[in-house]
Amino acid sequence: MNAKQLPCSDEKIKSIADMYGTPFHLYDENGIRRGVRAFQEAFQWCPNFREYFAVKATPNPWIMKLLKDMGVGADCSSLAELVLSETVGLRGNDIVFSSNDTPYSEYRKAMELGAVINLDDISHIPFLEKNGPIPEKICFRYNPGPSLHRGNQIIGKPEEAKYGMTREQLMEGIAWAKEKKIPFIGIHTMVISCELSMDGLVGTAEMMFDLAGDIREQLGVTVSFIDLGGGIGLAYRPEETPVDMAELGSRIHELYDRKMHGFEKTMLCFECGRIITGPYGFLITQAIHHKYIYRNYIGCDASMADLMRPGMYGAYHHITVVGKEDIPPTEIYDITGSLCENNDKFAVQRRLPPIEAGDLLVIHDTGAHGHSMGFNYNGKLRHQELLLREDGSIQQIRRNETLKDLFATLDYPGLNEKAEKAEQNEP
Ligand SMILES: *Cc1c(COP(=O)(O)O)cnc(C)c1O
Repeated sequence: MNAKQLPCSDEKIKSIADMYGTPFHLYDENGIRRGVRAFQEAFQWCPNFREYFAVKATPNPWIMKLLKDMGVGADCSSLAELVLSETVGLRGNDIVFSSNDTPYSEYRKAMELGAVINLDDISHIPFLEKNGPIPEKICFRYNPGPSLHRGNQIIGKPEEAKYGMTREQLMEGIAWAKEKKIPFIGIHTMVISCELSMDGLVGTAEMMFDLAGDIREQLGVTVSFIDLGGGIGLAYRPEETPVDMAELGSRIHELYDRKMHGFEKTMLCFECGRIITGPYGFLITQAIHHKYIYRNYIGCDASMADLMRPGMYGAYHHITVVGKEDIPPTEIYDITGSLCENNDKFAVQRRLPPIEAGDLLVIHDTGAHGHSMGFNYNGKLRHQELLLREDGSIQQIRRNETLKDLFATLDYPGLNEKAEKAEQNEP
């Protein structure tokens, strides 16, 4: 069980809405810091541990800077994410470049920053060699295929996933790196996503520890880096139980003591995004319409442009109606956005208290893969991001998109002027 709480009082949410307008994403700095500390404490036993924040979850430099100051690195998979990392002052071992289907220009930038280069495929070795110098820090992404008889809804079965290389290819890659005398050789995997089961998470660590042992035995290489990927799940539903990080740390510690003698210098890391910011972000939107046909609908001023997960994955996000926390949930609603897409719904057939136009709805757990997944279909604009600071103040860390932003790549006479007038309600 987990109580879905708001990061501040109802009155404060209302006053933020009055001041900044709706909708907005609100991130709770206190919560993010608490979560990171618990994660780091759970792995304090490890001589060389690091969490790399998966930038794609919340690619905002203000959030990344806050995490950097707590010792968290960055996991990047695009040029934009590398540039954001560089800008907040991350360099070298602070960055893992865990990309796939990667253009050379992105490898070049990652190497310029001194990042750990995680290869998604064996063919990327000749690709790198053909184009320039080889990286000084290299890592190989493992896909265990059907030998791992699990997988989950978001990432699927390993043998159906496009990521990583087979065991044989990985061994071949490590042999190549050894021959080239690359001083820093790592292994990586990401076979789960949004995983809540302790056995699944610990199983990934066991698979990688065994792989490190096999590599040492067969190739005489002691890897410098073991990256367990991201994928630690979030208890989106109130009846689910969040992953107990202390327990995860101690279960992996046990395995480590059993299997990892002589690997004391090896870095052990995760590249989680979801659990770092997910539970500490909230999308606040205002109900603007009701509609009663075959079902009852509440239309909001946010849309899938602000949060794709329910529409894309059928994902559950808890909803609180501000000020109605104690009113019985007597109604059944679909909570919708305005896209011309029937899956633009934040909730389907959800029990909630009676909602009136003007009510504020808080959609929970939107701090990761929320704003960042947004898109501009139907010309919908993505909305602002606000940071609730530890002292209770609010910092706008991203403004609302404007029509001018949307049309920035179009060169057509008069378009910008018309857009500006439309936004200022001028004829
Ligand atoms: C998406 C992704 C992550 C982060 O996953 P979370 O579910 O946010 O923890 C980490 N590494 C890679 C390679 C990814 O693709």
